[in-house]
Amino acid sequence: MNYNKLIKLKDNFDLIIIGGGILGTSLSYFLSFLNKSKKIAVIEQEHSVAHHTSGRNTGKVHAPYLYNPEKKKLFANAAFHGYEMWKEYSKLQNLPFKQDGVIEVAVDEKGIKVLEKYLKWGKQNGLEEKDIELINNEELKKIEPEIKCEAALYAHRDGSTDYSILTNSIMKDSKKNGIDFLFKKKITQIKKIKDKWEITINGNNKIFTNFLINASGGQAIDIAHNMNTAENLTDVHFRGEYWKTPEKYHKLTKTSVYSVPEFPDYPFLDPHWIVRVDGSCEIGPNAVPVFSPYGYDTAENIKEFIPKILEMLGSGARKTIFDKQFQELAFSEIQSSMSKSVMVKRVKKFLPKINPKEITVKGTAGIRSSVIDENGKFVPDVILLEKNSSFHILNYNSPGATGALPFSAHVINELHKKGLFENEDMEAQCGPWKFNEIIEKLEK
Ligand SMILES: Cc1cc2nc3c(=O)[nH]c(=O)nc-3n(C[C@H](O)[C@H](O)[C@H](O)COP(=O)(O)OP(=O)(O)OC[C@H]3O[C@@H](n4cnc5c(N)ncnc54)[C@H](O)[C@@H]3O)c2cc1C
Repeated sequence: MNYNKLIKLKDNFDLIIIGGGILGTSLSYFLSFLNKSKKIAVIEQEHSVAHHTSGRNTGKVHAPYLYNPEKKKLFANAAFHGYEMWKEYSKLQNLPFKQDGVIEVAVDEKGIKVLEKYLKWGKQNGLEEKDIELINNEELKKIEPEIKCEAALYAHRDGSTDYSILTNSIMKDSKKNGIDFLFKKKITQIKKIKDKWEITINGNNKIFTNFLINASGGQAIDIAHNMNTAENLTDVHFRGEYWKTPEKYHKLTKTSVYSVPEFPDYPFLDPHWIVRVDGSCEIGPNAVPVFSPYGYDTAENIKEFIPKILEMLGSGARKTIFDKQFQELAFSEIQSSMSKSVMVKRVKKFLPKINPKEITVKGTAGIRSSVIDENGKFVPDVILLEKNSSFHILNYNSPGATGALPFSAHVINELHKKGLFENEDMEAQCGPWKFNEIIEKLEK
């Protein structure tokens, strides 16, 4: 009996995307316009999209000044174009988007040199004179009297939004165009059988697909390992916690304030002063090491402690736990970043008016999963791996939400160029954009 004939039509897909975060949903959005005949589904273990990192981040639509154009060209380009695209999309759909800018401050001479470098990178990454400027402390005082610093980089082309709302909206568009979203379906095993992937859902049900995209965020490494891919890599998870500030602080600044990172390789250790799109203010995120991409509470962390250690020891990246730099960081900076008072003190350096005693209410936490290579080093960039009718997007971190639309267009274009996707109409109108024009802009 032909194996393919045994598979019921309803359980058989041309393409499965694992993960209903902003990345998986953006991929589905473009595919829904480019190819109306393919049977495509997004599989999500939760009851809605953007349940994890995509709905638990800082909500900034980042200007690309932090990214070295030589080393992170794709990410910088995606952030640059992502800003325009989210702005246009939000306007059309009447969704929250504020062009409120961001200020990056230097509190010493060394920091000013870093700001000069960021200004150069920002311009190399597409920002114009009107989008970004370096100003001294006197000039800044006139704009933001409460901020104390030596100099500041003011990025005007930077915004705030709610990525959960944006992801839900693009999901609705994708659904209208025929994409299935299968919720409360956790993928527990993936096996290659003949020319198909057999995917086990919630431990028993099976579905089948010709091609699979792994966009599963904090579980992307586990899914890749399950498919015998990326065995030389592992990951570590950090819970980024936010603290809400009382209402009387909400008018302290007009814009969000970041500071030059003390540890450029680990910029997530420096908390920010965040003005959210609804006008409320928070401090965060810090970086608390946890054992699961869903380690929001102690119970989940205890449950995942042993499996995570075993996974790390078994992976090619087992040196991680012995890597000197990682250990030093784990025992000094990371530990201190866990304390709320240390976090608030770091922000107080450039915003002296805040009183740690008045900051007592926790906000929503989001988890960052960073990939570690076989030398025990944090991998700085996104990793794209194509293998055996599957495509894996690993280490998709900040500013992943900003760049999700153009980045997804890039991935689809690459798969198409390799002949892995067929019959796509690469000139299709995708909402407000023509697909080929997005690619042309990205590749410029
Ligand atoms: C603290 C923090 C702040 C950030 N701030 C910003 C910011 O201000 N601006 C910005 O641009 N970026 C920011 N980022 C980065 C950005 O949020 C991420 O790059 C982006 O959300 C990643 O999206 P994703 O779709 O890859 O992952 P996710 O949102 O994690 O989505 C992956 C999905 O896959 C699902 N999944 C996983 N495994 C399975 C399985 N086995 N079966 C079924 N479903 C599964 C999960 O449930 C999840 O919904 C921040 C990140 C963090 C951690």
